[in-house]
Amino acid sequence: MAYLNDNYLKLKSGYLFPEIARRVNAFCQANAEAAKRLIRCGIGDVTEPLPQAVIKAMHKAIDEMAQRETFRGYGPEQGYEFLRKEIAKNDYRDHGIEVADDEIFVSDGSKCDCGNILDVFGHENRIGVMDPVYPVYVDTNVMAGHTGAANDSGSYSGLVYLPCTPENGFVPDVPNEKLDLVYLCYPNNPTGAIATREQLRRWVDYAIKNRSVILYDAAYEAYISDPGIPHSIYEIPGARECAIEFRSFSKNGGFTGVRCAFTVVPKSLNASTTEGKWTSVHPLWQRRMSTKFNGVSYPVQRGAEALYTTQGKEQVRELIRHYMGNAQVLRKGAKAAGLNVHGGVNAPYIWAQTPPGIGSWQAFDRILNEANVVITPGAGFGSKGEGFFRISAFNSRANAEEVARRLQALKW
Ligand SMILES: *Cc1c(COP(=O)(O)O)cnc(C)c1O
Repeated sequence: MAYLNDNYLKLKSGYLFPEIARRVNAFCQANAEAAKRLIRCGIGDVTEPLPQAVIKAMHKAIDEMAQRETFRGYGPEQGYEFLRKEIAKNDYRDHGIEVADDEIFVSDGSKCDCGNILDVFGHENRIGVMDPVYPVYVDTNVMAGHTGAANDSGSYSGLVYLPCTPENGFVPDVPNEKLDLVYLCYPNNPTGAIATREQLRRWVDYAIKNRSVILYDAAYEAYISDPGIPHSIYEIPGARECAIEFRSFSKNGGFTGVRCAFTVVPKSLNASTTEGKWTSVHPLWQRRMSTKFNGVSYPVQRGAEALYTTQGKEQVRELIRHYMGNAQVLRKGAKAAGLNVHGGVNAPYIWAQTPPGIGSWQAFDRILNEANVVITPGAGFGSKGEGFFRISAFNSRANAEEVARRLQALKW
C-alpha cells in the first residue's frame, strides 16, 4: 500500500487564487455584458512585454543553439558563470555589498526557491511568518509537516504569526520569543510596506543573538523609490552570518513567464546540526541544487544577463516607472473613494482598508459585481489581512485610470 503525504490534506481548500477564479468565472457566466468590461487587478502578474535588450539576447541565444559549434547542452546547475558574475557585481558589489559569484544560485523562480529552501533545514525549527503573508512560505511549511491544522481564519498551529497592522506600519518588530527561521519580505507583497535600515538592523541583531536564519524575499527590490531604504538584507552589518536572500527577474524584467531568479547563500551562513555542530549552509544548498535541479535554460540566462546591460537597465527602469505610475493613479483613486490606503509608493501593490463593517471577501464581491474589477481580498493572505484588499498596479495605464474612476463611483 502506498501512503501519501497527508500534510497536503491540511492545506486549506479553496486556496486564494483558485477561489478568486471561481467567483470571477461564476460572475462572467451570469453577466455576459458586464464580463466584457472586467478589469483584473487581482493576481500579481506583469502585463507589459519583455525589454528589447532581453528579446535580442534570447533570439541570439536561440541562434547559437541552432549551430553544432555553438550548441549547449546541460549547463552548470548553479547557473552560468556569465550571469552569476553580473548579478554579484551589479546587484551587490557595485553597491559596496560583499557577495561572491559562487554565493549566487540561479533558479527558475523565487517561488520555487522559497519553498525548496526548506530541504536544507531541519524539522524542529520554530518558524515565523508575517501576517498577512505571501502564501508560499506558509503552504510549503504545511507540506513539509511543520504545522498542525488550520483554524477558521486560516492560521496553522505550529507557526508563529507576526501581525502586520496599520499600528506597526505593517512591519513587525522582533518578537520576545525565539524563532529559528523567519521569513521577511520587503517591499512587501501584499501590503506594499518597506522596512527601514533600523528595522532590518533589529532583525539582523535578533537573528545573530538567537542563531536564527532570516529568509529574506526581495522580489520587489527594484520598486523601492525612497532613498535610504535598503534594497538588500546584506546592506545590514552581520546579515552575511544570518540571512539568505531571494531575488527574482519576474517583477523587474517582466520574467514571470520566462522564469529566472536567484538565491544568495553566503558561505559565512551557518546553522546547527542535530548534535549542535555549527555548520555552513552553502554546501547543502549547492548539493540540493545539483541533485534536484538541472539549471535554467541557456537562452533564459542570456536574457537575464541582458537586464544588466546599459540598455537593459534603462528598459527595466522604464517598466518600473510605468507600473509605479499606475500605482500612483490607483492610490489617488482609492483615496478619493474615501478608502484608507497603504502601500503603492515603494511597491506595485495598494493595500486598502475596507469600509467599516465590510469584510474583505464581501468587498471583493461588491467590487466585482458593481465595478467589474477583480481585486484580491486581504483575508486570503492571512487572518490579519481581513478588513483589507490588495489592488495590483500591474496593468496598462488606461486600465489603471479606469479602475480609479470605477472605485470612486462605488457606493459602499
Ligand atoms: C512574485 C513574487 C515572487 C517571484 O516569484 P517567481 O517564482 O520568481 O516568479 C517572489 N516573492 C513574492 C512575494 C512575489 O510576490
